[in-house]
Amino acid sequence: MFRMTRSSRLAGQTSKYFDAATSTTAATSRRLTRSSLARLAASTDEERAGKNAVADAALASGPTLRTPGEQDVDDNDDDDDDDKARRRIRRRLDGARPQPRPRPQARPQNHRPATGAVTIAPPTDWEEMYAVAKEMRLHGAAANAAVDTMGCERLAQRGASARDRRFQTLVALMLSSQTKDTVNAEAMARLQNELPPYKAGAPPGLNLENMLAVDPKLLNELIGKVGFHNNKTKYLKQTAEILRRDYGSDIPPTIQGLTSLPGVGPKMAHLCMSAEHGWNRVEGIGVDVHVHRITNLWGWNGPRPTRTPEETRAALESWLPRDRWKEINWLLVGLGQAVCLPVGRRCGDCELGLRGLCRAADRAKVNEGRRRREKGGEVKREAKAAEQVKAESELDGDGEEAKVKAKAEEDEAAGREGVKEEADEKKTQPEGTVKIKKEEDADVDG
Ligand code: SF4
Repeated sequence: MFRMTRSSRLAGQTSKYFDAATSTTAATSRRLTRSSLARLAASTDEERAGKNAVADAALASGPTLRTPGEQDVDDNDDDDDDDKARRRIRRRLDGARPQPRPRPQARPQNHRPATGAVTIAPPTDWEEMYAVAKEMRLHGAAANAAVDTMGCERLAQRGASARDRRFQTLVALMLSSQTKDTVNAEAMARLQNELPPYKAGAPPGLNLENMLAVDPKLLNELIGKVGFHNNKTKYLKQTAEILRRDYGSDIPPTIQGLTSLPGVGPKMAHLCMSAEHGWNRVEGIGVDVHVHRITNLWGWNGPRPTRTPEETRAALESWLPRDRWKEINWLLVGLGQAVCLPVGRRCGDCELGLRGLCRAADRAKVNEGRRRREKGGEVKREAKAAEQVKAESELDGDGEEAKVKAKAEEDEAAGREGVKEEADEKKTQPEGTVKIKKEEDADVDG
């Protein structure tokens, strides 16, 4: 009985202090937003102090407070009781605070956690898409892309030594980042023609010795049109030193060695490794912005888009047959340059869109392209039909002519036959008969 009476009184007191102390918190809890949670987190210290004050005030005003369900405790030790009471009150205050929402789980990646290996199932229609894209690259709207003539793999001079060609391929790749193929090709041509010889009598042009000797200012000027040319000048000079010091004046023969060079990332390393004038060895897919972007548009990298080219490389390498690892760069870079542009994709000219194979196709553009194609088809059909009619009419004309000619020839032949018969008849009649016949004719005339 005593316990119940004391509990009621204490509950009333506690509520008073509790309401006063938590008025701010309660107000906050009405609108639980991220910013309010942030404010709450920032005010933790102040609240803690406030709660201690509440607990102290409650303790000063009466006996120990208890929350429902709590076990009865031994009241002999006052200090212990005070601590316990403070803890109880703080627990109740904590209960009144809006609890921050649990942080969302990190987005699951397309990786198997135990091994880090990528697990991507090949898209069901990838072979058809690949074949259509390849046809477009070879003979369709994406044929003759800039990469076909000015890609890094094609910029090494054929007449140079194998070692110099490898160096030139590496330099072309280093210059290519954030730079159009056309601009890159121009800068490479300047290096190949204007880089001064490192000593009298040596040939000018792009090789390691001349790169080591060139003044950085001149080098910067020669490559001045490419993006980030100041940094690239530094990287080229540093790389030349490393190649001479660590790689016998050649380029590194491994991906690891290539990526250790300043300004050389995995994309460049894989392209350099697989290039005809590089090491001509395919060890991975060279994923540039076009490959990264287009494969994500197509959903080739798993249910969620990959965030970096490296993730894309891992995803693609998990299912794309190895014999396509080199070709896919050529395929998609050209497609990205000519049709599937980063801005203003030409879905109306793209076979993948027109045939309903691309899930990212712009429908309006595709419909427009189909209308254009149908119209073009109609015009062609009409032209073809007109040609056919003309050919037939010409044929008919020839036929009539031929008939007339044949008839004339027939008649002529018949005439010749008649004359001949008459002559033959005359020849076969006896002379007397002819004479009589002549006399008869004369009588008739007379
Ligand atoms: S249909 Fe459009 S989005 Fe798809 S590959 Fe072609 S151009 Fe790119």
